Amino acid sequence: MSHKKKKYSTSKDTAPLTAQERVSRYMRGNKSKHTQPELLLRQALWHGGLRGYRLHWKQLPGKPDVCYPGRKLAIFIHGCFWHRCPHCLPVMPKTNTPFWSAKFNRNQERDAQHREKLRSAGWQVLVIWACQLQEDLEGCLFTVKALHAGAPESYWLEAA
Ligand SMILES: [Zn+2]
Repeated sequence: MSHKKKKYSTSKDTAPLTAQERVSRYMRGNKSKHTQPELLLRQALWHGGLRGYRLHWKQLPGKPDVCYPGRKLAIFIHGCFWHRCPHCLPVMPKTNTPFWSAKFNRNQERDAQHREKLRSAGWQVLVIWACQLQEDLEGCLFTVKALHAGAPESYWLEAA
């Protein structure tokens, strides 16, 4: 049993991440729930007064990261690497390229199917990329607010 001096740990352990560290973290493409970009958006939504959302609602195709059932608005927060962001165009891994390529294709096909199912059930679908959240959180929040207030989905498609 080791006795770490947790109690007296230096501030280094709890210091906020620098911008560069945050970027490195999300660039790792963590697919799990409650990733940094998702938390960023949730905090922004909360502080922006857009509460009443559900997280990873199992009843919906693809379990959108955030959704507003009352507004039929589903939001996916996509990691740029895994879902192949059209904005920052993450590099293709140089080794095992066919493997990665097949994997990315499957991810993208699945994403498209989920969006399709949601739309045919009358939902609006918003995809927010991790890099967009990092670069323009206000802009993302603005778009969510607009859709939440009843703007058509084409609003953000045209704006993007
Ligand atoms: Zn991106």
